[in-house]
Amino acid sequence: GSDDVEKKFISELEKHGLTNEVKIVRTGCFGLCEVGPIVIVYPEGAFYSHIKVENVEKIVEEHLLKGRIVKDLLYYEALEEDEIRSINEVEFYKKQRRVALRNCGVINPENIDEYIAMDGYRALGKVLTEMTPEEVIEVVKDSGLRGRGGGGFPTGLKWKFAYNSKDDQKYVACNADEGDPGAFMDRSVLEGDPHAIIEAMAIAGYAIGSDQGYVYVRAEYPIAVHRLKIAIEQAKEYGLLGKDIFGTGFNFDLEVRLGAGAFVCGEETALLQSIEGKRGMPRPRPPFPAVKGLWGKPTLLNNVETYANIAQIILNGPEWFSSIGTERSKGTKVFALGGKINNTGLVEIPMGTTLREVIYEIGGGIPNGKKFKAVQTGGPSGGCITADHLDTPIDYDNLIALGSMMGSGGMIVMDEDNCMVDIARFFLDFTVDESCGKCTPCREGTKRMLEILEKITSGKGEPEDLENLENLANTIKSASLCGLGQTAPNPVLSTLRYFRDEYEAHIYDKK
Ligand code: SF4
Repeated sequence: GSDDVEKKFISELEKHGLTNEVKIVRTGCFGLCEVGPIVIVYPEGAFYSHIKVENVEKIVEEHLLKGRIVKDLLYYEALEEDEIRSINEVEFYKKQRRVALRNCGVINPENIDEYIAMDGYRALGKVLTEMTPEEVIEVVKDSGLRGRGGGGFPTGLKWKFAYNSKDDQKYVACNADEGDPGAFMDRSVLEGDPHAIIEAMAIAGYAIGSDQGYVYVRAEYPIAVHRLKIAIEQAKEYGLLGKDIFGTGFNFDLEVRLGAGAFVCGEETALLQSIEGKRGMPRPRPPFPAVKGLWGKPTLLNNVETYANIAQIILNGPEWFSSIGTERSKGTKVFALGGKINNTGLVEIPMGTTLREVIYEIGGGIPNGKKFKAVQTGGPSGGCITADHLDTPIDYDNLIALGSMMGSGGMIVMDEDNCMVDIARFFLDFTVDESCGKCTPCREGTKRMLEILEKITSGKGEPEDLENLENLANTIKSASLCGLGQTAPNPVLSTLRYFRDEYEAHIYDKK
């Protein structure tokens, strides 16, 4: 409904002759999807939620013309007469820390000047004029940043490998092929702050010695693609991409490549194949892309959220970044909060925040007074975490210890009504569909697992099915070629570990 709301604002402002005084800025996502469309009026910062076309007249006449807050449309209660609460005091935002999402919902992503006004391209200027490539890599290493695409590999180390690979041509690539069901973090960054990715990729190009980058983004993200293309054109016009950037002699160009929606193309070697125009299928590693990637040349590949942190690390220093988070997981992490939760939306939290804080304080708890049952993190590669572990601080290692993983950041909450065997079946159904078929354990094994799960959920399960499921799961995990197969059994294994009674109920009670 935002389009119609915006049109109505434009016509109301024209009607009242306010077009020179009030500027309408269309932004990216501000995170609180549950209460959209959102309108924020500055300088007060009044946060209006669930805005419909018929509310616009009142906001213009009361707030813009008479300076009176429209209390019944505010997301929160005004403290005193016309006193506005800062967004950071609202429960949903209180415990968040927006680093990767810093400009999302704040600037117009289609206007490079707004990005520049928020310190945009200053980090690129700094590295090109004040730092050597080695120094840039050291800063990224010292920050402790780890890959946000799921694996959690130290980013600075990856940059160092690509730097050390000597070749006449190197490439920088961005994985924006976000494919987990329920995940929309990378999409929101590209839609809300595309220049942050362009700037970071140019910095990466300088650091490893590359003059060409590719953003691989799924075609199902049309707004993200559109805004990214606008941003690339604007950066070229401003001399921030292309030849002789900032007059330093550094060249860097960027192209967009569209993915056709295959989940496996989020796997790095498959993604690179797809950029080359080949069928997206994983290949064994080593050689790793940093040594042999696109067209056999060294290629640095990071995901969108990883890049979204880079400019801030350069500007604020590695100590600043590593002061946020836990011992082994630094900085913040963006999660897409969905499922049975009151505040569906996009949240960015310091690593180390507990699941309880995310679900009950930021997420506002479970709707309709239902009981929390589990939270699924890591998408089809992840697992389910139970109420017993709600006080676990979220970081890479803790989630893995619980049988799940950080993944790219999908977080789906389940309540007492969800059947965990069904949840496992849903994710396995997805991976069976998305398996590329190259290796037997994944191609055949996941199908057999799905058959067993379907047998169990249709009331035809037998006691030995659970053992068969576990054996198959462990074989697929250890023998599959790529991450898709290696992690596909996780939702089944974690539900077997924590909710075995539900499997047994299907088998013994024949439900
Ligand atoms: Fe393809 Fe699955 Fe093998 Fe990966 S594990 S290469 S997706 S068949």
